[in-house]
Amino acid sequence: MKKKIEVFYSDDYAGCENGKFSFYFGYEMTFCKLHGKDTDCECENKEDCFVARVDKKEAMRLTRGEIEVLVEYASPELSEPPQYLMAGIMEYFKNI
Ligand SMILES: [Zn+2]
Repeated sequence: MKKKIEVFYSDDYAGCENGKFSFYFGYEMTFCKLHGKDTDCECENKEDCFVARVDKKEAMRLTRGEIEVLVEYASPELSEPPQYLMAGIMEYFKNI
């Protein structure tokens, strides 16, 4: 069987892919609520984002702050990229 799953994380990002679906949270995907840019705004308002892609097309984007509002329980307390990634994935599947 061909291997297809990739999982990766570090201090400032986390992600996983299986070919069709790709989920990422971290510094490479951002959103600025003040200026509306999604990748290249350099101001201090930009937030790291969770991004879900299906067949390489973006299907959902949530900022760090939006995820924090959605999470009722996290242990340890919500802080690490893999936790934001997991919460984002759960929100994605809640909405499809
Ligand atoms: Zn900005």
